[in-house]
Amino acid sequence: MCVGPRSAVFAPLADVGLIVVDEEHDPSYKHEGDPRYDARRVAAKRALDAGALLLCGSATPRPESYRALRRLRLSRRVDGQHPPPVRTIDMRGTDAALHPDTVDALATARKSIVLLNRRGWSNFLDCRSCGHAWMCPNCDVALVLHRAGAYLACHHCGHRERVPQHCTECGSVSVARHGAGTERLEHDLAQLGLPTFRLDADVRDPGGALRAFERAERGVLIGTQMVAKGHDFPDVTLGVVVDADATLRFPDFRAEERTFALVAQLAGRAGRGEAGGRVLVQTLAPDAPSIVAATQHDADGFLAGELARREALRYPPFATLIKFVCSAEALPPAMAAATALADHLRAHGVPGDVLGPAPLFRLRERERAQLIVKAAERRPAVRAAGAAVDAVAGAKEHKGVSFSVDVDPQ
Ligand SMILES: [Zn+2]
Ligand SMILES: [Zn+2]
Repeated sequence: MCVGPRSAVFAPLADVGLIVVDEEHDPSYKHEGDPRYDARRVAAKRALDAGALLLCGSATPRPESYRALRRLRLSRRVDGQHPPPVRTIDMRGTDAALHPDTVDALATARKSIVLLNRRGWSNFLDCRSCGHAWMCPNCDVALVLHRAGAYLACHHCGHRERVPQHCTECGSVSVARHGAGTERLEHDLAQLGLPTFRLDADVRDPGGALRAFERAERGVLIGTQMVAKGHDFPDVTLGVVVDADATLRFPDFRAEERTFALVAQLAGRAGRGEAGGRVLVQTLAPDAPSIVAATQHDADGFLAGELARREALRYPPFATLIKFVCSAEALPPAMAAATALADHLRAHGVPGDVLGPAPLFRLRERERAQLIVKAAERRPAVRAAGAAVDAVAGAKEHKGVSFSVDVDPQ
């Protein structure tokens, strides 16, 4: 038997009889660097070739798997408990990060988990006098304040700079901090006298933080989606999702799927012991289908609706998406290369729609243009994509442009 992360799917084992992909909804099964493989697709191919059984496990299956695989249902939780009741808290018109009811619940629960999918202290800074905003010099994104280390950081390229004492444009010392991340939330909860533990990518020893929380008599574990992943703390009786619709605001067809998975997974972390539990979901979008379904523990209802939506819009699993990104020091050559790709694909009759090109935000000092192919048939589309890149990337006028192709982008 071989047990391991994503790359274990390539283990050189003979006579494979069973491949188990646990938590199959996790986007990290897709490797985002080169080679861009999706371990779930590799597992399916390997199982097929070897005549092995493929078993995918998840409380929040992806629409792709839900449609393609035979379903075996676990009607009870492993611990025999019922899923905890979930209450939605409408945060429209509220400025605070936490609703008063959430604060009350946290103050009375012995152990709780709070999910906020945003690191740092505040998400962006601007000048109250002139409106100047602190942006990354390499990417078109706002810098995030990390108060513990007294620096601003770009979460895309890693750029760091010191926290400004005054505005670099007008000299004003009135710098406003907007939005709250996990660092800020931990501070606020500690102010209320609650023992706090934090788990996010900025924490040096995540294992240590988890063990300390497990040993503690009472306390709050605060963190990003890392806190929603598979931990089993039987004495946690309260789960809180802060800003549950944050993932819905991404311009991504998987936004609903991700939001549902995140809220439902956190709900699965609370009330695992005999004391039971409950979950509070703070959101600005209480009527969003993914939030409503997650609060009702209704994976089937969510997936039925999501599959219907995707079929109507022709998104996976009803089509294959191929994403091309052309990047260069300036936008015009990047757009020119993406346009040439689009022309080549259309001229050679790629079996699907060619969407774009459209500019993306600047990343790591590179301007970027994106092109999407939405194809009904996978193989011919992948072949056409390869041919288009071969033809365009080799041309002299696109020197200095980098090309990346991603089949099934996440
Ligand atoms: Zn200013
Ligand atoms: Zn950056």
